[in-house]
Amino acid sequence: MSHALTELVAAQAALAQRLLDRLAEIGADPPGITREAFGPGENAAHALIAETGEALGLERRVDAAANLSLRWPGRDPAAPPILIGSHLDSVVQGGNFDGAAGVVAGLAAIAALQAAGIRPRCDIEVLALRCEEAVWFGLGLIGSRGLLARLPPGALEPGALEPGALELRHARSGATLAECIAACGGDPDRLRQGVPLRDPARLGAYLELHIEQAPQLVEAEAPVGLCLANPGNVRHPQIRITGEEAHTGLPHRFRRDAALAGAELALALEGLWVQEEAAGRPMAVTIGRFHTQAERHSLTMVSGRFELSLDLRAYDPAHLEALEGRLAEILAGVAARRAVGIDPGPRSAASPGMMDPAILEALAAAAARAGLTAPRLNSPGSHDANNFAAAGVPTGMLLIRNRNGSHNPAEAMETADLMAATELLTEWLAERAGDAAA
Ligand SMILES: [Zn+2]
Repeated sequence: MSHALTELVAAQAALAQRLLDRLAEIGADPPGITREAFGPGENAAHALIAETGEALGLERRVDAAANLSLRWPGRDPAAPPILIGSHLDSVVQGGNFDGAAGVVAGLAAIAALQAAGIRPRCDIEVLALRCEEAVWFGLGLIGSRGLLARLPPGALEPGALEPGALELRHARSGATLAECIAACGGDPDRLRQGVPLRDPARLGAYLELHIEQAPQLVEAEAPVGLCLANPGNVRHPQIRITGEEAHTGLPHRFRRDAALAGAELALALEGLWVQEEAAGRPMAVTIGRFHTQAERHSLTMVSGRFELSLDLRAYDPAHLEALEGRLAEILAGVAARRAVGIDPGPRSAASPGMMDPAILEALAAAAARAGLTAPRLNSPGSHDANNFAAAGVPTGMLLIRNRNGSHNPAEAMETADLMAATELLTEWLAERAGDAAA
């Protein structure tokens, strides 16, 4: 990176800090931050980012999924645009940086390029994608799914749901997704057509900056990392095991114990995980909910009902599909051995996101020019980038060092690390779309 560009990026630290401070005020919900998707928090954050973009001369648009786009027009209107996206919603009482950091970095990078007198060849757009967090609708990545026509069937209106589909209603307002999108300036009728809002074949690249949700970069003492892939997932929020309630006097051979079936299922899934990891196939199993029926609890009772949730994730689409097959076998095996019924309940899925190798190498070269050590690593979390990658858009991701994980008030990103990632992004943009203005 030229000395001048390094300094021009550093000069944007004040802009980044001001935006992060304002976003923290908008979401203040002690002890954490809540920016409710399609609610007051996310809307206020969108308004702040839109105003800031307009002050930089960017063109503001809201698409049919209510995503915000801020476009810096390039010299060649026919050249495929570069999109820099992330989200502004948060979980309930989470941290300030999950999502927001990427949108702030996009604006700071454009401000630095403008200060350098660069006018890009192609359009550069900053996207604030709606409702990335799954807490609001029980389904995440909604803005990017809507943009790329990847919403599951029936997602807009729960009345149209197929059996086994998720009940998609806003966790606070109870509104349907169509109602939420319309209230935020989107157009659900356009989404019902099932046609992408932007033709993926005409998008040059999608780049996302996001805080890391694990301590790998803290461990590596590196401010920024190059993401290799994001996991996709298969989720069953409500698996129900039905056995038979009985008294403690019932001998083992007669029991149909739902609690022990739940335990066997959990350990079988962990066994699968350990086996796959040992074979070099990274994945994860998360059981966030795991319980008998509290109202039936008794010291001497064999449980007749058991419930759990399951999030199964992997980095490779074929691997995730194979794992889903293994899950079905495990469920059938436990049901047969324990003489219980297991209803997997509703299912949702998100595609894994493999990052584009050419973009990965270009980002590595940009890191070398900027004098940054940027290790290559898998992301622990799924992101909007997954939908762009799955739609065939060349996709890249930078992970920013972050202490204490995410989705909690202790989430901690240093602005200096955000600026290091922004420097890498700016260097990549200058190389890819640059040329000093004539
Ligand atoms: Zn996020």
